[in-house]
Amino acid sequence: MIDQPALVLFNSLTRQPEAFVPVHPGEARVYSCGPTVYNYPHIGNMRAYVFADVLGRTLSYKGYALTHVINITDVGHLTDDADAGEDKMEAAAAARAQSIWDIARHYTEAYWADIAALNIRAPAHWSIATEYVPQMIEFAKTIAERHCYELPGGLYFDVGSVADYGRLARTNTDEGEGRIDQVAGKRHAADFAIWRKTPVGETRQMEWDSPWGKGAPGWHLECSVMSGALLGFPFDIHTGGIDHREIHHPNEIAQNQAFCCAGGLTDPANSGARVWMHNNFLVERSGKMSKSSGEFLRLQLLIDRGYHPLAYRLMCLQAHYRSELEFSWEGLGAALTRLKRLVMAVAQLRERAGEPAATPGPRFAEALGRFDAAISDDLNTSVALTVLDDIVAMKKVDPAEKLAAIRVVDSVLGLGLLMLDRLALRLRPKAATIDEAAIAEVLDQRRAARAGKDFALSDMLRDALSAAGVDAMDGDPLGWDWRPQ
Ligand code: AMP
Ligand code: ZN
Repeated sequence: MIDQPALVLFNSLTRQPEAFVPVHPGEARVYSCGPTVYNYPHIGNMRAYVFADVLGRTLSYKGYALTHVINITDVGHLTDDADAGEDKMEAAAAARAQSIWDIARHYTEAYWADIAALNIRAPAHWSIATEYVPQMIEFAKTIAERHCYELPGGLYFDVGSVADYGRLARTNTDEGEGRIDQVAGKRHAADFAIWRKTPVGETRQMEWDSPWGKGAPGWHLECSVMSGALLGFPFDIHTGGIDHREIHHPNEIAQNQAFCCAGGLTDPANSGARVWMHNNFLVERSGKMSKSSGEFLRLQLLIDRGYHPLAYRLMCLQAHYRSELEFSWEGLGAALTRLKRLVMAVAQLRERAGEPAATPGPRFAEALGRFDAAISDDLNTSVALTVLDDIVAMKKVDPAEKLAAIRVVDSVLGLGLLMLDRLALRLRPKAATIDEAAIAEVLDQRRAARAGKDFALSDMLRDALSAAGVDAMDGDPLGWDWRPQ
């Protein structure tokens, strides 16, 4: 580790890039806000976990023993991030006349399938919110007297009771008006429920007894409790999407300060985590990202159209995590082509060399140094990808050593380059109207036509394949490829 550049990460709390200094020497403890499992995740949500995965892989690559926690929110997240609306889980269960527990299980499994498809490493702990309710009640009891007050609706956190409230969002206690629903009796607009009582006359599928009446925990409370319980305060890094910088994370921070009896946020460690990191959004102009828009952009939709999920991962890595990324099918197609080139290059190296060498060897030191500098510079994955291209393009080098160099880079980028084969990337689009056997037949006829110099027939056969969603790829060892729809 001695001659490696220091890992620099952008801390949203200070709005500065900072050299990473672990709380516990040699370790890295990371908490990422997980999904609310009332529906399938969209690919924007999955960008948040690709980012958290690259962060985790980078920490491992840099030699830190990583403990990563991602939670599953199966209770408490209201339809408005702040303090209004219904519980998303209760609302989904009512709309579909299903039990919340069934809904939670179904969408948690769907989320885990997307995690696996994107080659995101499983964290050390998937913490499920409903399994931590007793700890949430204990946490709330600890802070209730000095930091909370009761209203008919439940127990509210007084954001004026901690120093520097809203520093992460660069707001203060009186801002937020207009964004946050007013609840009669709140001391500040930004005060939020940490325990919501079940309204009289209503029954909820999920409710627990507490000193403040039967009810359910607030969403912000969950993350404070699970991160503190599994990682200990202060831990190293807390991640989430940029929307969480505005309400959810400032509220988690306020609770953490209250719980730890800590001072203001000029010392970031008082926030509960030393570094807060946020990925920017994936955007799509026509609104297909919204889960309420019917056919929204799920990973499965990409797969159904013939785009391998790792092409989406590559698309994410081509942008910096702090930049907005605009989704387009053309962009995804370009990422798929780039991924195929990389996988073809690895396949050719494997044909020549078999397995990768144990280490890359000195010829690759310069390129791997540039890779290290890029990834250490606040996870500059787009530059890291160009270094990967440079490595792939290097001539007159030992192929086994080249494979070893690719393996080093891919341990961080996670494109699965050493496990993917060309065939795995050839996903059949749902709408394709031809099967593999028929394609092979047409390609045989086409080969015969070309051998007989009947180029008109050869072109006609190619066009017929193309109309059925298949590209004839002259010169390619496999001869054909699905055309993503
Ligand atoms: P949710 O399930 O709504 O709690 O969101 C899960 C994660 O996805 C959170 O970290 C959000 O901040 C993040 N997120 C939501 N929408 C997007 C988007 N369009 N692009 C990137 N991240 C997002
Ligand atoms: Zn959270």
